[in-house]
Amino acid sequence: MSTRTTYSGYKAGLVFLVLFVVVALVPWNTPHVQAQGATQKVDAEYTALIKQYLTDARISTELVDHLPASDTVPTPLKFLGRVTGQPGHLTYAREIHQYMKAIADAAPGRAKWWVIGQTEEGRDQIVLAIANEETIKNLDRYKADLQALTDPRRTTEAQARQIISRAKPIYWLTSGVHSTERGGPEMLTELAYRLVVSESPFVQQIRNNVITFITPVIEVDGRERIVDTAYYNAQRQAEGLQGQLGLPYWGKYVAHDNNRDGMGQFLAMTRNVMKVANEWKPTILHDLHEQASLLYASTGTGPYNEQLDPITISEWWMFAQNDVMEMTKRGVPGVWTYGFYDGWTPNYMFYAVHTHNATGRFYEVGGYGVNAVAPRLAGGAAAPPPPAAAAGRGAAPAAGGRGGRGNSREWFRPNPDPGNVNWGPRAHVNMSQSAVMFALSFTGKDKDRWLENYWIKNRNAVNRGKDGTSHGWVIPADQHSKANAAEAVEGLKAQGVEIHKAAAAFTAGGINVKPGDWIIRGDQPYRTVVDMYFAVQDYSMSNPSPYDDLGWTYPMMRNIISHEINDKAMLTAPMTPVTGAVRATGGIAGTGSTVIVDHTGDNLLAQFRFQFASVAMQAAEAGFEAAGRTFGAGAIIIPNANRAQLEPVLTELGLSGYAVATAPAVKTHNLDVPRIGYVHSWGNTQDEGWVRAALDYYKIPYTYFGENEVAKRDLRAQFDVILWPHGGAIGQEAPTGGSPIPFQKSDAFPSLGYPDSTADTRGGLGAPGLKKLYEFVQAGGTLITEGGTSAIFPNNYLTPGITVDLGAGLTAPGSVYRGIVADKTSPIAYGLSRNHLPVYYKANGGPLFSIGGRPGPQQPTSVITTGRGATYQNTSPMGQSQNVFGTWDPSQDWTPAAASASAAAPAPGGRGAGRGGGQSAALLDFMQPRVILQFPPSESDMLLSGGLVGGENLEGRAQVIDAPIGQGHVVMFAIRPFWRWQSQGTYILGFNALMHWNDLNAGK
Ligand SMILES: [Zn+2]
Repeated sequence: MSTRTTYSGYKAGLVFLVLFVVVALVPWNTPHVQAQGATQKVDAEYTALIKQYLTDARISTELVDHLPASDTVPTPLKFLGRVTGQPGHLTYAREIHQYMKAIADAAPGRAKWWVIGQTEEGRDQIVLAIANEETIKNLDRYKADLQALTDPRRTTEAQARQIISRAKPIYWLTSGVHSTERGGPEMLTELAYRLVVSESPFVQQIRNNVITFITPVIEVDGRERIVDTAYYNAQRQAEGLQGQLGLPYWGKYVAHDNNRDGMGQFLAMTRNVMKVANEWKPTILHDLHEQASLLYASTGTGPYNEQLDPITISEWWMFAQNDVMEMTKRGVPGVWTYGFYDGWTPNYMFYAVHTHNATGRFYEVGGYGVNAVAPRLAGGAAAPPPPAAAAGRGAAPAAGGRGGRGNSREWFRPNPDPGNVNWGPRAHVNMSQSAVMFALSFTGKDKDRWLENYWIKNRNAVNRGKDGTSHGWVIPADQHSKANAAEAVEGLKAQGVEIHKAAAAFTAGGINVKPGDWIIRGDQPYRTVVDMYFAVQDYSMSNPSPYDDLGWTYPMMRNIISHEINDKAMLTAPMTPVTGAVRATGGIAGTGSTVIVDHTGDNLLAQFRFQFASVAMQAAEAGFEAAGRTFGAGAIIIPNANRAQLEPVLTELGLSGYAVATAPAVKTHNLDVPRIGYVHSWGNTQDEGWVRAALDYYKIPYTYFGENEVAKRDLRAQFDVILWPHGGAIGQEAPTGGSPIPFQKSDAFPSLGYPDSTADTRGGLGAPGLKKLYEFVQAGGTLITEGGTSAIFPNNYLTPGITVDLGAGLTAPGSVYRGIVADKTSPIAYGLSRNHLPVYYKANGGPLFSIGGRPGPQQPTSVITTGRGATYQNTSPMGQSQNVFGTWDPSQDWTPAAASASAAAPAPGGRGAGRGGGQSAALLDFMQPRVILQFPPSESDMLLSGGLVGGENLEGRAQVIDAPIGQGHVVMFAIRPFWRWQSQGTYILGFNALMHWNDLNAGK
């Protein structure tokens, strides 16, 4: 066959005999006839191998128990050298992409392949579109139909009806977002072939009525690394080396959290998906995962996101019922829905379509079972695979999840997992491929319904802005942190939200809008993005434990001013659409040799400082008057400034400089640019990746190394600041015996050893490393810790006067709480316009600090991260919220809530400090820790968005502490200043600690 490709490493000179047989016609009322055309040949060799590798006959349907033959399109066996689901193999993303391209090349009438973008490491992400010949030929026309259905402002109801009857839904299958979940990308290779080649009425119906998009691997970098790791470990085993490499990284930045980037949109993979979503308006996005068995089809349990159009929740249920029923009809056990995931947080990949009024779904399928691939032999040939039976069960994780007892027969699990299924890779392929095909078939048979729903959801969104109570939002352009505000608006624009600029001053909803202010009209279909992000979340804590964060309110997390406008007048106000990049107005005003840049809390200020590292700059330690205006503490003063050099950059960044003839008379310190060392563990790079993301984005350079290297370095000679984010641990020193487990790039495994490499991943900091860090601080270095890592110094008695408590009954899953600025004179608080700001905190890993006074409760708690958390079904209604919220106005200072007014202002110094006046009487002055930020004194004033139980544990607790040790400082964050790509409002606290690293005593 001319399209047969010899793929190095996998073919090993095998000879393929493709036998064609004609399938006899079977009675139409058996499911079989739907699957196979009356005359289409079956690829007998491939079909025989499917049977051979299937470990349990119950996990099969008439759709996948054979493979149709093709004279032109290569099968996975011909192209990749094996059938899909053959034990002992994993396929690289690049091979999967090449295979899908080969399908499109061989069948251009039915398939189209293109690259949708590149990852951080420059690898391609792709889409393969499959439909009938007429559809592929007119793909752009079908795209235009979906675009028309998206916008009720330009499409009338009558036109929409017409379009719906001729349009075709796009069903976008995605997988490989979670690199350790290996089977989805494999399965999709065979599905792609089958959808293109099969002439069965079943598949023809799909091709005729649905445009199937396939993106087999979302996290391409992580896929290459996990496949390299599997083959590397197989090689280790073959060589008799002890220990296996646990993959330290998936993508460049984060692992599993890559599926929490839907809202932040930092990762290249997320932005590429969003780009496709905005261009093609997929009707359904279906993501394939592997965290439950045997197959879970998503509906979630609720509580559901309150801004999601309720039609979507009905669609989730309907699709899931279809898939469960069709599989159950065929006797396939263990297919269920409901009891896994809730549906609350809009940060998953499939929210790329939920925020755009389409529908997202996911499957969790039993693990792929390729824990042991066959080692590759010298010369690139694959060793013979292990016998099918050896694949065994093993890989399927325990069923259940939130649904509780995994084997009970329930309305959502009509045919439970019998508990004796012999699971394996081919079972996985059969299971997920069958279910996906039933979903595609359902989509096609009922295509008008999904298109109509989509149209109605878009119409509902626009109508909310025209007739509802929320007509839009205004974000003042000249607010305190104007560059942060512009970045926030740009983030919305990148997700397809239309942005306008006020063309003249006007008043709407009691808000005085100034020319140039950013306007988000409420009468646009993608206002759903803003509804979901801007709302205040109120999660009833009597609900089962949440799947992820409870609160995320976008303007809070970015600490920016925005106004919801409930006044129709806004819609007719003068405004112009913003087409280019959203940027704050910047530059240099006035004349003179000294340039002053106010500290506005803008994160780009840190970029500005590091970009001009060689330029001498000073920071004011107090407010002052100059150039006819008032500057705050932290304002950057640049004497003898090179205006020609600085001005274009300030303009580009949207920061304002003011030139004056003489430097202001205010106490200053030099802004010495630090040499930054950045320490990560080899066991947990997930959370620190978001800190790296912030540094990289704002172009702050650092040296990145593992905890196992700390003891080997002369830290103070090399660095001024060391960042040690959440995920750090003391651990054990690397063992000297045994077999080292390297994470290094090699010719055979080119994707390993990035973004950091080591000759031995075993071991961590150890006591010698901790001692090194302590000595680094003593000698004048600044150590910055975050989240759980912040508890390490206090727990090892290295920070006198600071202890870490355990909360009793505290339940504070990721939410937005209030931070009170306890010490406005500390450089860490520079740039904050008010005495409070919203912070992201989660009790899991967020230490409860006591300072000076007696420690708080020491008893451990079993409920620190979870809510009710019990087994449950829909036997009782979802709980009513008992949350008490504080109010947040970013333009006003905080005053204590009435309930706590009698307690007067909070005693600065953190919990336990009251009696000691914020200081520990036992400590000498120079050793006193300084509390920069703390929780409010009253629980009732603490929660801003999300949920909270047992908030009394947090009352007055320190959120950010600056503890002196010797000549240096440890800055400990109990909050998470760099939480995902969402907490931009607190990035500046971390950046301030970097910029003022050797002047942290200022104002003390
Ligand atoms: Zn997953």
